[in-house]
Amino acid sequence: MNNLDIIKNNDENVVNCYSRFQIALESGKNATCHDFDGKKYIDFTSGIGVNSLGFCNEGWITAIESQLHKIQHISNLFYTLPGAEAAEMLVRLSGLKKVFFSNSGAESNEGAIKAARKYSFDKYGGGRNKIITLINSFHGRTITTLAATGQEVFHNYFFPFTEGFEHAAANDIGDLKSKLDGSVCAIMIELVQGEGGVIPLDRAYVEEIADICRENDILLIADEVQTGVGRTGSFFAYQQFGILPDIVTSAKGLAGGLPFGAVLFGEKTEGVFRPGDHGTTFGGNPIAAAAAAYVLSRMTPEFLDEVKKKGAYITERLLKMPLVKSVSGMGLMLGVELEGLSSSDVVKAAFRHGAMALTAKQKLRLLPPLTITYEEIDEGLKALEAALSEMQEV
Ligand SMILES: *Cc1c(COP(=O)(O)O)cnc(C)c1O
Repeated sequence: MNNLDIIKNNDENVVNCYSRFQIALESGKNATCHDFDGKKYIDFTSGIGVNSLGFCNEGWITAIESQLHKIQHISNLFYTLPGAEAAEMLVRLSGLKKVFFSNSGAESNEGAIKAARKYSFDKYGGGRNKIITLINSFHGRTITTLAATGQEVFHNYFFPFTEGFEHAAANDIGDLKSKLDGSVCAIMIELVQGEGGVIPLDRAYVEEIADICRENDILLIADEVQTGVGRTGSFFAYQQFGILPDIVTSAKGLAGGLPFGAVLFGEKTEGVFRPGDHGTTFGGNPIAAAAAAYVLSRMTPEFLDEVKKKGAYITERLLKMPLVKSVSGMGLMLGVELEGLSSSDVVKAAFRHGAMALTAKQKLRLLPPLTITYEEIDEGLKALEAALSEMQEV
């Protein structure tokens, strides 16, 4: 079988809602992988920030394998060891109080939105249910998380969307304040806007939001679906902004490549959900939870320091490349602004030269596995530089 056989078979049977690269990947180790034509790539995507420990990490495989021989699923009507372990580690690493397990980022955000509205309902009665999110944000693909997403392109076709969301300009505290009336129950932010172009929020702005929330009993929700689990060089990005949100959502990198998500609750919100208020069939699945527990066991201060160092190293190298105007982001979540180039053209050229990268709007986006080696970084950057040099000449 080669790439084309698989692509043809897939396209005959799978709904066409992704613009896919014409590549089918067969196998990988850490940040290095091969497609079905035998071509090698260095992976700067980790499946959109999911494979935190790269492809097929040995310890991760062992954790999953040993759980596979015990129990694969049992429903949330029972307790499991991997769920308890993953939750304990999440609480310790985050400084929050309680965890609800889900299966994806959008589902985690749905849980956060429901909890925020119930918190307010329990305390203030109906009508105080508005949630402010930021322009250029991305919060998911369900009807409610699309409504939460502050980008007009996502507000099409699927009417009616869930009510009760307002979008404020990012890094503009005046605009946010102008939207605060008595009906706001929560403010939801990404500390680094991912899909929106790898744009970190200003620290002073984030601190002001936290103050406003505290003073007005408005809940602060951090959507850390992309920024969490070591991606930015701290376990959660908010830990570098000097704040502690009331609710934090996680998914992408949490289980290192299995579908898994979490909503974390702080002191104010830990008791909002009571039996029957919320639930999910697959959330906390023992296999995915065992994978998450392993990923979480790797999140030591030394590991997180390495993420920062690798991010700084890649940034420094990128800034010396042709057509690179600036680099934004934190840790191993990087956005590359390009001189008059379409980011998707650059990504395609990078593929030809053997590096896998993503786009975020006009920027090239790099989300390598957190375990990428310096050798792999050098090899991948060489491929990227070759692609940029080629485009400079055209
Ligand atoms: C990817 C992403 C989501 C959606 O996650 P899914 O697992 O695709 O539902 C939500 N918020 C942010 C910030 C994301 O990056």
